[in-house]
Amino acid sequence: MSDFDVDLFVIGGGSGGVRAARIAAGHGARVMLAEEDRMGGTCVIRGCVPKKLLVYASRFAGDFEDAAGYGWSVPKAAFDWPTLIKNKDAEIARLEGIYRTNLTKAGVEIVDSRAVIEDAHTVRVLKTGARIRARVILVATGGRVVKVPAVPGIEHAITSNEAFHLERLPERIAVVGGGYIAVEFAGIFAGLGVETTLIHRGEKLLRGFDEDVRDALGEAYAQRGIRLCLECGLTSIEKMDGELLITLTDGRELRVDQVMIATGRVPNTEKLGLEEAGVALASNGAIVVDAMSRTNVPSIYAVGDVTDRVNLTPVAIREGHAFADTVFGNRPASVDHNVIPTAVFSSPEIGTVGLGEADARQRYGNVRIFRSSFRAMKATLSGREDRVLMKIVVDGDTDRVLGVHILGDGAGEMIQLVGIAVTMGATKADFDRTMAVHPTAAEELVTMRTPVA
Ligand SMILES: Cc1cc2nc3c(=O)[nH]c(=O)nc-3n(C[C@H](O)[C@H](O)[C@H](O)COP(=O)(O)OP(=O)(O)OC[C@H]3O[C@@H](n4cnc5c(N)ncnc54)[C@H](O)[C@@H]3O)c2cc1C
Repeated sequence: MSDFDVDLFVIGGGSGGVRAARIAAGHGARVMLAEEDRMGGTCVIRGCVPKKLLVYASRFAGDFEDAAGYGWSVPKAAFDWPTLIKNKDAEIARLEGIYRTNLTKAGVEIVDSRAVIEDAHTVRVLKTGARIRARVILVATGGRVVKVPAVPGIEHAITSNEAFHLERLPERIAVVGGGYIAVEFAGIFAGLGVETTLIHRGEKLLRGFDEDVRDALGEAYAQRGIRLCLECGLTSIEKMDGELLITLTDGRELRVDQVMIATGRVPNTEKLGLEEAGVALASNGAIVVDAMSRTNVPSIYAVGDVTDRVNLTPVAIREGHAFADTVFGNRPASVDHNVIPTAVFSSPEIGTVGLGEADARQRYGNVRIFRSSFRAMKATLSGREDRVLMKIVVDGDTDRVLGVHILGDGAGEMIQLVGIAVTMGATKADFDRTMAVHPTAAEELVTMRTPVA
């Protein structure tokens, strides 16, 4: 042990790295953590947290409209983007401070620098040139956004990173991509009154989600006035007189003020010294790990987006925690990546856990589907046309609930709780014998009795 300067060197102060460092230090390990940018990583600085704040901001417009049906006369509301961004930045700075304080309190030594691996036990801190000998190295460097396809003029496009810091709210925006980040930002901009076009090469948004949810979101977005260009790609961006002229694969041209690319993220493994240390990488650059987050080099572990397993904050946190318990707490733990409740903060929101219908049919012969599409009670007086979708996928042989999919207000909050039941292996009969909470939208989850397929 005395051959080493520290027991653990963590590279990356994001969701996974911070949790691993704190828990390992709590187990008595001497821990050093290097972060080259701002503490907190993608989620806190340029991901989940600032995004959710913008989502909240974007939903007020609808609330003001809905209020009329309930007797309120709301004067024409005015929105100020710089105020939102200033307040959001202050909150992010507050959270960053908390991350730092918590690490320091836990006894973790923070190094504000890029760090790279020199060999199986050595990390070089670029700012100082110091070589730190570590018994164990944890790579938690996350992922980064890439602008693809690299069409002519791509340099004029922004990504989610820049979207959080725009000086002005554009009047017109084209968002390119069909994954959750593209869908969420399209919803944010549309809610804030921006003329929004969503360009996606696929036939539907949100590949990998249940087909009914994908259809329902497409319809809801079209109804909200988001222009959907599906089966369509970007071929060029041209800057002209203060606006951008974009050309699509079907020959159409659009004039917008901003283009946001949300087509992909890649693991952050470039120039980290991984290849030199003999760490195996997958073809997309992700670090290959086993169930215990071990790489093929016994002293080097990796957690979070850099391993490209399931790229979500709670997953990175769990992986970091399990790693620290296993290696420093003498409590071997691994993460179950099978049942992961998750939300898409589109408006309307999506909450999903477990298998979609198509995946369930592929894996299980006998599948029962329960589905309900209805207008939420709140929409009756407001006159909003939005529909809520709830769908339960059940194994017909065992009655176990394989998946639950919700589109509608509060879906993210609902799915967290449904996730407990599904993780516990609840059956449809368990759902059925659960008393309904009335009047709520969620009661539909325990009152659907007749399978539709
Ligand atoms: C726009 C957006 C919205 C998202 N929304 C959600 C959401 O709603 N819910 C959800 O669960 N997930 C969301 N995510 C995903 C989530 O942010 C990531 O899954 C999570 O942050 C991964 O954590 P991590 O620790 O693996 O990496 P990160 O949080 O990316 O942290 C890695 C850190 O390592 C640092 N680093 C990299 N290389 C080095 C080096 N050589 N030396 C020192 N430091 C280095 C980076 O600066 C970074 O701070 C979102 C992501 C984006 C981009």
